[in-house]
Amino acid sequence: MSLKAIYRKALAGTSLAESDIRYIQHLPDDRLGELLEYAHSIRTACFDSTVGLCAIVNAKSGTCSEDCAFCAQSGHHGGESPEYPLLPPEQIAAAGLAAKRHGVTRFGVVASGKMVGESDLAGYAEAVRRVAAQGLKPDLSPGILDCSQLKALKAEGLEGYHHNLETSASYFPKICTTHAYEEDIRAVRAGLKAGLYVCSGGIFGIGESWDDRVELALLLRELGVPSVPMNFLHPIPGTPLEGKEVLSPEEALRIVALFRFLLPDRALRICGGRVTVFGEKRKRELLRSGANGLMVGDYLTTRGSDVVSDLTEIDQADLVPECSVGKRESGL
Ligand code: SF4
Repeated sequence: MSLKAIYRKALAGTSLAESDIRYIQHLPDDRLGELLEYAHSIRTACFDSTVGLCAIVNAKSGTCSEDCAFCAQSGHHGGESPEYPLLPPEQIAAAGLAAKRHGVTRFGVVASGKMVGESDLAGYAEAVRRVAAQGLKPDLSPGILDCSQLKALKAEGLEGYHHNLETSASYFPKICTTHAYEEDIRAVRAGLKAGLYVCSGGIFGIGESWDDRVELALLLRELGVPSVPMNFLHPIPGTPLEGKEVLSPEEALRIVALFRFLLPDRALRICGGRVTVFGEKRKRELLRSGANGLMVGDYLTTRGSDVVSDLTEIDQADLVPECSVGKRESGL
């Protein structure tokens, strides 16, 4: 077996054998660069050289009913996060407009909480209409919605539904005890059935094993999710994971590359925790590790990176930021 042979399999869309996955997992650190080059080749073969840019607004924050161990917004922990109800649609749209100035194409309206009330649904519909009218692709991460609710929002201009699975089914009970993993899978299926562009991924560095990472990737592949946000733990004081060690950039890069081998034709978007894990210095490697999308600007409860410096790095990595006023469609 060789890395090149595994690369050819991935490129052909053939499922990797367990031995292939182990080979990548245990590849010596001094061959990490080679692994990243192959992952980047898969990405450029399956997509193009554009980097999808998305941004989010924390549209409703804090006091969440769920107890996700990594999250500052859970009402079960002592993590500090702002607390406010759903922002007015005009405020959400103004945040979208600010993001668009940086070339962002997708704009996510993200809210804490699992269930969605009727008044919030009306607010989301209005926000979606306003964001779409600005020439952005509106995405929503509102919690769990059913297919008919999602179809109604699609009719208002909604492009994408975001609902992370967070980790594998096997590890999920160690991270969240207030709802069943199956509910999240149902939400993802509802988004796909409604014909929306579904973003569903996970968070890494929360104590999961390599097997959990592979299990998550294979489930996302089986579900047919087109876009996979990859988040990395930024330990928040007051949460159960406050003392967890931050992943090394090398381990995080290996995770991204492995996901590219397992999900060759899915958009891999690097989201929360990017600055914590990679800092400002490893951006170029990250951009050439198999990822083809970046969340820019601030995250939900933590600061993000400088957008201008992100755009410069994209340019220096011989890639092209997808332009929101642009001429090309990369499918991202
Ligand atoms: S990750 Fe989402 S569902 Fe879980 S506690 Fe945070 S806001 Fe609530």
